[in-house]
Amino acid sequence: MAISRLLLHFILLLLLRAFALLPTQAAARSGHNPSGTDDGNHGSFSRNLLEDKPRITEEMVHGYMSNSELEIAVHTFGSRCPNISRIYSSKFVYWRTVLLFLQWVIEISDKPGKKEAEPAFKFIGNVHGDEPVGREILMHLANWLCDNYLKDPLATLIVENMHLHILPTMNPDGFALRWRGNANNVDLNRDFPDQFFSVNNDINYRQPETRAIMNWVKQEHFTASASLHGGALVANYPWDGTRDKRYPIYGGMQDWNYIHGGCFELTLEISDTKWPKAAELPVIWEHNRMSMLKIVASLIKSGIHGRIFAANTGRPIPGSVMIKGIDSKVRASNTYGDYHRMLAPGEKYEAVVASMEGFRPKATHIVLEQEAVSLDFILDPDGADGQMELLRNDCGCRCDNELFHVLEAHLWLYLLVMFVLLTFYLLFKRRTASRLLTYRHSPRRPIAV
Ligand SMILES: [Zn+2]
Repeated sequence: MAISRLLLHFILLLLLRAFALLPTQAAARSGHNPSGTDDGNHGSFSRNLLEDKPRITEEMVHGYMSNSELEIAVHTFGSRCPNISRIYSSKFVYWRTVLLFLQWVIEISDKPGKKEAEPAFKFIGNVHGDEPVGREILMHLANWLCDNYLKDPLATLIVENMHLHILPTMNPDGFALRWRGNANNVDLNRDFPDQFFSVNNDINYRQPETRAIMNWVKQEHFTASASLHGGALVANYPWDGTRDKRYPIYGGMQDWNYIHGGCFELTLEISDTKWPKAAELPVIWEHNRMSMLKIVASLIKSGIHGRIFAANTGRPIPGSVMIKGIDSKVRASNTYGDYHRMLAPGEKYEAVVASMEGFRPKATHIVLEQEAVSLDFILDPDGADGQMELLRNDCGCRCDNELFHVLEAHLWLYLLVMFVLLTFYLLFKRRTASRLLTYRHSPRRPIAV
């Protein structure tokens, strides 16, 4: 009796644990917050903006592309430069905003859409709905590269040696509504998981626009990026969020990129007013053209670039590279094991360390002149674990949190079923045993012959 009561308690505990996992996942998927209040937000932890809607007159909007005009401009570009570009977005998985606008990306490369052992850079415009200069300037940039490929050395260098991804507008809803946040009035540059306030790091609680960027960064292996803003002339790089900074930004896209995507992101404020007159756009483009091209080209022309291989198989592995004294590592790609580390030129770096779980790390020192340095690593497997790691990466598994949640829920369910079956088995066994016992104790029946 005591055993079956103990089993019953255990099953109840398991049931409680299994159900405790469900509500958060269900709430996240339905888009309602668990507190029960439905304010139209996609998560209860979203950081709302406190500021009022700024006044943007129709006169100010005149000359700027509307969202549908921008969509046409993107596709016109795609058909004008099909050999060196690809236009992408996804109707089903992500890239849809709250108001169901599609966010279109232009990829520029001599092999668009193909994986190569080359660095990738992304430009993101219009993060804040009321800062529309970026979306216009980025279309200028794409068109300039298309017109000058094989004519201008900088354009040719960029097209042939890297993959440039351009998202002209991250926040078309905010642009249409003429305000900073998205349609839920959430500042997208405060919606990313934060290094200091890790209260809510679940991707499902983010705004759809933020989710799109997070999935994109996981998928594309970017080396560096820049997001375009307006309202000041500033270039900012990690960290935005610090414990002692005067104007810190928490939940910003820049720091999230650096920590979780190994992607060095710049925040560029490119116009001194948030919404200048459209007539000023060509001048702003001219002022920013060379710096934008040079930022992108610096990815190819400086830093350390190379690939990481496994010594036993000779195959590329997605290890990581760390520089002693710099608290961040870059990951090599899954396909080619290539890594690209931006570093200040004219410096001596004592230890460049390549590592991967299951392999013995290797370190070397370099002197970085003005030009980029090429540096490959061949790592020896660390016993049997090395083989395991290789196999795991061959199946292309992604061990992110979502998958762990699903696996955990399945594991509990599996254990529950196993214990129910075990209980039945024990009960059945006890019954059979007692029957056998009664049979043995009964007087022997006469055997017929
Ligand atoms: Zn901004």
